Amino acid sequence: MVVTYEQALSIVEERLGRSNLRPAVETVPLDQTPGRVLAEDATADRDLPPFHRAIRDGYALRAADLTVLPAVLRCVGEVPAGRSFEGELNFGQCVSIMTGAPLPAGADAVVMVEHTRSVGDDIEIQRGVRQWENVVLQGAEAALGARILPRGRRIRAAEIGLLAAVGKATVAVYRLPRVAILPTGDEVVPVQQRPQWFQIRNSNAMALAAQVKAAGGVPIQLGIAPDRQDVLREMIEQGLKSDLLLLSGGVSMGKFDLVEGVLAELGAEFFFQGAAIRPGKPLVFGRVRDLFFFGLPGNPVSTFVTFELFVRPALAMLGGAGFEPPIFLRARLVRPYSQKTGLTAFMPARVRIQDRDPVVELVGWQGSGDLVGIAAANCFLVIRPDQTELAAGDWVDIMPKE
Ligand code: AMP
Ligand code: MG
Repeated sequence: MVVTYEQALSIVEERLGRSNLRPAVETVPLDQTPGRVLAEDATADRDLPPFHRAIRDGYALRAADLTVLPAVLRCVGEVPAGRSFEGELNFGQCVSIMTGAPLPAGADAVVMVEHTRSVGDDIEIQRGVRQWENVVLQGAEAALGARILPRGRRIRAAEIGLLAAVGKATVAVYRLPRVAILPTGDEVVPVQQRPQWFQIRNSNAMALAAQVKAAGGVPIQLGIAPDRQDVLREMIEQGLKSDLLLLSGGVSMGKFDLVEGVLAELGAEFFFQGAAIRPGKPLVFGRVRDLFFFGLPGNPVSTFVTFELFVRPALAMLGGAGFEPPIFLRARLVRPYSQKTGLTAFMPARVRIQDRDPVVELVGWQGSGDLVGIAAANCFLVIRPDQTELAAGDWVDIMPKE
């Protein structure tokens, strides 16, 4: 069954969603969590901020003291960040305060130092302020006990900062899914081996491993499978213990494209066999003995694109992050484009800013085998089946590339 891009994506979401995934949980030090997925709700162990915090250098005072300007207030002390002011501020008084310091009791605003002037022991205030101006109230960002990050959130630098702020030195995260990678093809040889003139280096397994890591998985290389049913079957069986199996090559209509046949022999269920996309049309997705697999086309650009489109969101679900579909942005076409394929196309392209607008241009590429072309790209130009004629300047979808 050949499906559209949208159907293929929703089949992936639906099949993985239905399978009741329960990734194991492990506890790791906070500095080892970039890219990991939270397995617990994180809560604030104190109010954030923990006190009424001054956000400007200046003078803490009572806003009501500034009804007549300039106002002259008696300076009764100083609070740098990391200290507190003992006692309570009275009418007619102010305290010199620095960014990050707690507001003295009795004060309800801060006037920036730029709007003040020292007059002996007194401070002349030249500008009025609203109550609580230049102050963030205690608990305004998060109250004690509030959920600051939900289970299932992918942890990046900002989340790490927030977890640190609430004292999470160790964090419960989901175990990384293990992804078995099995390239197929009699012509494919290891990277470190000198190929004969008719052989091809195994670039797919290397690129896939990098994509798996970037998507929050652990790549497991199964080696290179020849185009022989018995060996292919044995090697697939070795991948059955992992959380996801990625095959590359051998899914087209050629005489030696054996992957689907061998998977079928092993009792595989196919959820789709072929997607109306370019590149990547022969893509297959299914399950064999509780293990989801993708049969990715062998052409390196197809392998790369189909991973980004379908495997990455699937890996997110296997890793406890929920469904993370590709996000498309928009840019203007530099040159007109026409196609009549009836497919959704994802073509290596470059986006840049011109006259404040993002503009996108295809990179020269020789089709779906062209690694040089894809390496030159920083995005994919996405063309829908109904977009048969596009003019220069038209807004189109692009998918950013890592
Ligand atoms: P296939 O899908 O098996 O018909 O392969 C399509 C094209 O991709 C052929 O030109 C293969 O040589 C190439 N190819 C297949 N597997 C790999 C691989 N692991 N690394 C690089 N190129 C590959
Ligand atoms: Mg092949």
